[in-house]
Amino acid sequence: MAAGRGRLDAFAKIRDVNRREFLGSAVAGLASAETPPPGNIILVHEHVLVDFTSGKSPYDPDEAFAIAKPHLEEAKKYGLRRFQDCAPAYLGRNPKLLRRLSDAVGVDIWTNTGWYAARNHQYLPGEAKTESPAQIAKRWVDEWRKGVDGMKPRFIKIGVNNGPLPELDKKIVRAAALCSKETGLTIQSHTGNGLAAVEQLEIITSENVDASKFVWVHAYREKDHAIHEKVARAGAWVQFDGVSESSLQWHAECVRFMESRKLLGRTMISQDAGYYKPGQPKGGAFRPYTTMQKQLLPMLAPLWGLQLLVMNPIAAYGKS
Ligand SMILES: [Zn+2]
Repeated sequence: MAAGRGRLDAFAKIRDVNRREFLGSAVAGLASAETPPPGNIILVHEHVLVDFTSGKSPYDPDEAFAIAKPHLEEAKKYGLRRFQDCAPAYLGRNPKLLRRLSDAVGVDIWTNTGWYAARNHQYLPGEAKTESPAQIAKRWVDEWRKGVDGMKPRFIKIGVNNGPLPELDKKIVRAAALCSKETGLTIQSHTGNGLAAVEQLEIITSENVDASKFVWVHAYREKDHAIHEKVARAGAWVQFDGVSESSLQWHAECVRFMESRKLLGRTMISQDAGYYKPGQPKGGAFRPYTTMQKQLLPMLAPLWGLQLLVMNPIAAYGKS
């Protein structure tokens, strides 16, 4: 009896220590610059390279690689496990470069399929105008099936202008819904304003795609929390990316608002940081991938980081 009891006590002790150490290291790591967190953070919206010249400025991939690599290594020190690169086709998507960086740094890097209608359609290929949503979706499904330069897209990235949405934007959203239905991939949409988010959600759910397959990108640009709440309550994801040194107070407020409405489970944060820009000397200014970990997380309750950067991204996009 005594021996059995002793074993149970010992087991309970080990379990407690494990739990304390796991949560302890995760919490301390997420909240403190001195203690790196465990390797489990997912950055859902960042960029290695964005080509606003859409192929008109040839660049040296070796230079882009050398410039991005130390930033990814620094993020790895702060617990990065997975990096979701959000440059769509015609805007600098470069899976070869991503794969090279992934191998060199030892973090998982994801690329995407989809087209970007934002910035007044200038980055859309001609087929966007002539083809149906189903035809466009088929192109993206093919990329998912066959891979792009040896890398399988793991999410759909589109972009739309401000609402009320132009017809062409609606077509791209419908194509994304059809592609999601076929592949199960989650849709990240660069979104102009809150109205555009609501309109997209209507299109996507009208195609019988679950609201949880839609991520409202750049939700921090919408100042009306009522729309954040509405979209989250409908079951979609509200993504406050764009965390930077000058935005910390607003991003913290957005997250605290969602938590106050018990909607932290539909919220994500990221930085939209980087990136090498072809056409600029040395790729221009590069914003680091660690501002959020160093400066925003310490402003929030420690366990929120675990929810926002580990649990929610897995729930939204799946495991690696
Ligand atoms: Zn972005």
